[in-house]
Amino acid sequence: MQVTDRMYDRNPQRSYFNRKTLKGLERHQEVAILVFFSSVVLTLFLLFIGVGGFGPPDPCLKGDPSGDPSNLCFCEDFKAAKVGKPGVLQPQNTLSNLYALLTGTIVAYFAQRSRQRKSAKSPYMRGGRFYPLLYICIVVFLGLGSMFFHATLLKWGGVLDNLSMYTFANFVFCYTLLRLTDWETVFLIAYPTSVVAFTALNALELVSSFVVILVVVVAYLVLEALIFFWKKERRASDRTFVVFYFPALLSLAIAVLVWVMSQTGGCWCNPDGFQGHVVWHVMAGVTATFLYFYWRDSPS
Ligand SMILES: [Zn+2]
Repeated sequence: MQVTDRMYDRNPQRSYFNRKTLKGLERHQEVAILVFFSSVVLTLFLLFIGVGGFGPPDPCLKGDPSGDPSNLCFCEDFKAAKVGKPGVLQPQNTLSNLYALLTGTIVAYFAQRSRQRKSAKSPYMRGGRFYPLLYICIVVFLGLGSMFFHATLLKWGGVLDNLSMYTFANFVFCYTLLRLTDWETVFLIAYPTSVVAFTALNALELVSSFVVILVVVVAYLVLEALIFFWKKERRASDRTFVVFYFPALLSLAIAVLVWVMSQTGGCWCNPDGFQGHVVWHVMAGVTATFLYFYWRDSPS
């Protein structure tokens, strides 16, 4: 069923973003956001690796001061003497994150198409509004943000890597809360605040990012269950669950499994061979892409 503007106007849900967000760029605003944001992040990345970075090494190097395979920096071998110098320390782990240009393009293309055809079922995820444009940037940053870490293995690179995971994971939680409650003000305050707070806690090494992400994912699953059992009118169709949501969960499960097994010392870790961590990167991006389609085709 197509959602027309008139149907949307009759929808009681109120949004701060009922108007097109980028005047003059309506036709290609999704692609414009994609190109602009990717260019900014990649330019910063090139500057970062060109200059050689700054500050102390990432805590992952603490496992072994010499920095060789017994380090905890996700398996791929690198020369410890080059930490802080210009260049890319872990080529596979770094360059595999360019996959995000592809997933970002897929989300931008379908967000644009859904807007032009008015075919999205979700009033929030309709193109032309704030959320799909924000999500294009999140999908891109989920990959490109990680490049700063793997290229430099510096603490600030690690902070940016965690920032990229929080921008994604916290969006998943806050957007699901929005679907459940329509509390847009809560979203607009809680999402950026939680991303900044979690990143700061992480930078101060007060809490492990793994624990934070785990808590966010469990909390998200509770919200998703509430929508499923309590707000049935907002539940996605069976087809949407089968085609988009279950593949998202499956990709996430594969990503986490590979992440664990390909850690330094893990049974799929070969410091000089193919890096399983590459699969983790790509599958996390696949999860993010399937979630976009799931949200787009969910009634709220
Ligand atoms: Zn990584």
